[in-house]
Amino acid sequence: MSELRIGSSPDPARPERMPWVRAPVGSDAERVDAVKIPAEGPVLISACLAGVACTHAAEAKTREWALELIAEGRGVTVCPEVAGGLPIPRAEAEIIGGGGADVLDGTARVRTVEGDDVTSQYVRGAEAAVAAAKRSGAALAVLKARSPSCGCGAIYDGSFSGRLIDGKGVSAVALERAGVDVISDEDVET
Ligand code: SF4
Repeated sequence: MSELRIGSSPDPARPERMPWVRAPVGSDAERVDAVKIPAEGPVLISACLAGVACTHAAEAKTREWALELIAEGRGVTVCPEVAGGLPIPRAEAEIIGGGGADVLDGTARVRTVEGDDVTSQYVRGAEAAVAAAKRSGAALAVLKARSPSCGCGAIYDGSFSGRLIDGKGVSAVALERAGVDVISDEDVET
């Protein structure tokens, strides 16, 4: 079984990034891209994973490993949507016409289920996430799956019908563009 390098950079200047990635577990037929949290250093975490009730429905999506990072003083939390100025609770929103990269590039919008345009709040939130990573020196961000801000790998398709498409949220893309490795909470080895 060959080693899997999740998120490895095509940039030869950063060949040794993601040292915490290990080979996939399970059989070849059932690969699981489990990723170990690094043993040292700050890690940026979606705040809802660390017990903050900040989702659009005012819920937390608490994960044990995130609480451990907080207890160790290494967890750096950010909720990009709240940091961008949106309230708790708030209307559900999805990216319309693309993914997070398209939003940052100005070719797609983020709208609530009620039709309100919240693109500027999402972009401001992404800037806040990048600022938090830079301030803390976090080289890794573990973000909540499927969120239009934090999702990485799959996001909702903009139809508010529950359909998923390949893609990343606005903050996930902004963090990657800033040189931060980004993984989904669903990829963390537990
Ligand atoms: Fe969690 Fe990110 Fe959504 Fe905030 S924006 S509630 S941190 S998934």
